[in-house]
Amino acid sequence: MNFLARIVRFLFWLLVVSWGVRLLRRIVGGMLRDQVGAAPQTTDDSAGIPAPAARRLVRDPVCGMHIDETRSLPLREGGELLHFCSPACRDAYAGNTKKFAANG
Ligand SMILES: [Zn+2]
Repeated sequence: MNFLARIVRFLFWLLVVSWGVRLLRRIVGGMLRDQVGAAPQTTDDSAGIPAPAARRLVRDPVCGMHIDETRSLPLREGGELLHFCSPACRDAYAGNTKKFAANG
């Protein structure tokens, strides 16, 4: 009976220790994951340059200049989205299409 009680106590402690190790490993793993997740963020901040894929260059059909899509003046023309570098180019294009429409 004494032997059985010792085995039960041993199993109980084994369970407690394994549970504690699993908990500790989860905490340590979470800390490591936080460090790994924080590392690329700091490098991105230090670089300070947006990813090249995020910026898209579009071509102005009037003057042929390439401009950043976010800085361009968009104009929807017959289901096609056009981008212009300045209101002058946009007006020139609008004037031309109006002239072409009048001619045609
Ligand atoms: Zn232009």
